[in-house]
Formats: sequence, structure tokens, C-alpha cells
Amino acid sequence: MLYRSTRNADEKVTASQAVLKGLADNGGLFVPEQIPMLDVPVEKLADMTYQETAYEVMKLFLTDYTEEELKQCIQKAYDKKFDTKEIAPLVKAQDAYYLELFHGSTIAFKDMALSILPHLLITAARKNQVQNDIVILTATSGDTGKAALAGFADVKGTKIIVFYPKDGVSPIQQKQMVTQKGDNTFVVGINGNFDQAQTGVKKMFSDQGLAKEMAQAGYQFSSANSINIGRLVPQIVYYVYAYAKMVKSGEIKNGDNINVVVPTGNFGNILAAFYAKNMGLPIGTLICASNENKVLYDFFATGTYDKNREFVLTSSPSMDILISSNLERLIYCIAGNDAQKNQELMVSLQEKGSYTITEEMRQQLTSFYGNYASENETAATIREIFKDAGYVIDPHTAVAAAVYKKYQTETGDQTKTVIASTASPYKFTRSVMTAIDETYNSREDFALVDELASLSNVKIPKAIEDIRTAPVLHNTVCEVEQMQSVVKKFLS
Ligand SMILES: *Cc1c(COP(=O)(O)O)cnc(C)c1O
Repeated sequence: MLYRSTRNADEKVTASQAVLKGLADNGGLFVPEQIPMLDVPVEKLADMTYQETAYEVMKLFLTDYTEEELKQCIQKAYDKKFDTKEIAPLVKAQDAYYLELFHGSTIAFKDMALSILPHLLITAARKNQVQNDIVILTATSGDTGKAALAGFADVKGTKIIVFYPKDGVSPIQQKQMVTQKGDNTFVVGINGNFDQAQTGVKKMFSDQGLAKEMAQAGYQFSSANSINIGRLVPQIVYYVYAYAKMVKSGEIKNGDNINVVVPTGNFGNILAAFYAKNMGLPIGTLICASNENKVLYDFFATGTYDKNREFVLTSSPSMDILISSNLERLIYCIAGNDAQKNQELMVSLQEKGSYTITEEMRQQLTSFYGNYASENETAATIREIFKDAGYVIDPHTAVAAAVYKKYQTETGDQTKTVIASTASPYKFTRSVMTAIDETYNSREDFALVDELASLSNVKIPKAIEDIRTAPVLHNTVCEVEQMQSVVKKFLS
């Protein structure tokens, strides 16, 4: 299976090359030439472990990795770093199934992909005779950064540089990043928002002069952002796994449709669900949930993607995004895999900040439903699900749960529904606790952590215990314009 660029019909690479490069030459994203069909029956998947399921899904996409290579990557990724053998457990609360994707080392769903990406990348480098050290450049709205740092720390032959919006992440997210250990790690706060950080990183990726300079110094860039196919593919796994587990437990019959609700930012997670659907997994509606940065809701409602709007800081910072990079893969797909057409829309996005798809393209979006939740609705949802079911969810997951309620009210659809639960409530303790009871706001961060433990009966994750006392190791802060010089300084 080869991968094509969404912006250049002539560029074709193998899976390992796509993983290695991250981004295609002219800023396009790599997409598989066609989506493979699942070739293992669900009855068989139902008895498989997470790791076995991962192999069955990933082998269909990463066809130039040998069985042994892929299985090793999977074993190294989904091991004791996860605090449950199930890796991604399903929890039923009220009338929805929460697929908990936060049991990895940084307690957010980014771990699902970022615990395997370093291994896929190092394997790809070996396969392609790469001599340079790989420098991972990443912009983060909070969760990617820490998950990438944890994945790459002290991995030989790699360095990792993470940029985060200094005032745009939660205190716990920030503390997690600036306490990161490892000689090859570098964390930088920028005076700007996530989109500016992401744009700065993308600029460095497409700067040929910089690439040359780096090569002379023995480095080459790669991306750990969700645009890397090495992140997208591992995310397909848990939808297949969840479906098979629901069949096994008798919640659904094999062949029944399920709906999926995904709290969405960069559109990576929901795109993985879309790919799973295209592999033949019986998914009905893909429910795309946004917070007050509702650019995707407006897109699904009108066919126009328009980032010209005020950027809102919300209690679900990992979704505070105005440019959902992975949407480009969907646009390319509904444009009939037409790189030229996609390129025109992306140029329009770059130059005018907006684009409008054709009616013909819109008609192919019928399996998507978009909506959003306000800050008040998000907090009310956390409070309500806790009071009603004793289950505590984080603000990102709450955005999804709130949107699911709107969907049910609007459509009356009774299909069994999986909600992607993307972060542990412990990662956003203050927002969660004040949603439950405003008076908690006067308490200190770690007092709230202890309070949450007694309220939820869920053990405090190791990731939180670890940062209680960890020293700050990174305190670089820069302006958006200085990102490139900061990179050079770190590598020299
Ligand atoms: C990254 C993230 C999201 C958004 O996922 P995308 O793949 O970027 O759409 C949602 N919730 C949490 C907790 C995240 O870390």
C-alpha cells in the first residue's frame, strides 16, 4: 500500500517513508491510496487482546513493516505504561458507552498513538537507511506535547522540541511538560495561541533552506503532530476493539451499527473513526463535537470552513483550535481524491482564511453530524452525569456527552453509542471540580486532586502523583517569530 499527498498527485511514498516524513513535500498530508477492508471476522476480534487487534488493523496500513517489526512496536507501546490490561476500557454510564482512552502515561488519549509512534519512526528510519538524528518538532494545545515528550524521552537517535501556548494550557498540562526529564527533550512556551504555534512549526517543516542547514548538522525534522500517518493508524484500532468488545459482551449483535461521538480539535480522532467505518466496521453516524471554537460545526452546517473568528479559550483546551489540520484528509476524499481541487481549497484557507466546498462534496458528508457545547453546557453535563451516574468525566469528554444529548433530542436515534473519552478528569481537576460545585474554586490544585479521588472513587493516576513534587526543568519562553532561532540554538 502506498501513500499519496493530498496536494500533489505525483508524490507517492511507502508507509514507512510517510511515517518518517510526517508531512508531504508541499505541505500536503499523506493518505493511503485506498482504505483496506478489515479481513478478520468480528467473532475472532472479540476474543483478541488490544495488542492483537492493533496488529490486525495496523498490518493493513503499514504494509512495508514486517510482522516482527510491527509486533515489536506494538509490544513496546501497549505495555505496563497503561494502568489497565484492557488498554482502552469501555464504561457504561447513563445510556452511553465511554471508551476510556486515557489509561496511558500522560492520562490523555494522545498516548494511544504517541506511545507507538517513536517505535514506528525508529523502525522506519532503520528501514530507509537514515543516518541523521530525527528531530521531532511539535506544537501542542496541551496533551500532544506531554504525550510526545513521554514517548520520545531518551529514545536513541531522536530529539524532541515542543512548543505550547504559554497561557493556553491547563496548569497541570503545563506542569507535566515543564517537568519532563530526558536529555533529548526541550519544551518552549510561546507568547501566542496554538494555531500560531502550529503555523510556526509547519513553516519550519516546509523551509528548504532550514532543512539543508539541518542536514549538514546531522539532523532531519519529523512531526509527532496528528498529521503523521503513524498517529492516525493506531487510532483506528480502538474503534475496532470497542466494537468487538460490545459484540462479545452482548451489548450489540455482530453487524449492528453503533454511533461514535468524538470531542474534536484537529480532526484526527474522528478521522480515524471515519477510516474504521470505511474499513467495514458498522458505524452509523460520526458525531463531531466542538467546544465554543465551533468552526467544524459551522462547516458541517454550511459547507464553508471559516477560521476568521475570535479564538476562545475554553475549559477543553485541547480542542481550542481554528485550523483542524486533519480535515484536509476528509476534504481530499470527498473531492474524489483530487489533489488539485484540494490544493485550491487549502490555498484559499491560507490566503483568505476560508473555503467553501461544492454541493457534490457536501452530499458525501451525510454520515457526519456536527454540533457544539458552550462552556455552561459543558459544566452542566459534568455535574449532571456525576449526580446521576456517579461517573466523573473531563471537560473534553463532557463536550462530547453534551453534543450527544443534543443529537438524541434532535434525531431520536436510539443506536448504541460510543463516546470517545479523551482525558482523565484528573488532568483538568479544577474545571471538573468547579463544574460539580463552584465553591471548590477556592481550593489549591492538589487539594482538589485529593477531593476528586474521594468523590469519584477512582485512584489518583501515577502521572498526577509524579508531578506533585517534580522540579521544573524547562523555562524557555519565546515570541512566535523566534521559534526558528530557538530550534537552532537547542540543536547547536
Ligand atoms: C487532542 C485532544 C482532543 C482532540 O482530538 P483531535 O484528534 O485533535 O480532534 C480531544 N480531547 C483531548 C483530551 C485531546 O487531548
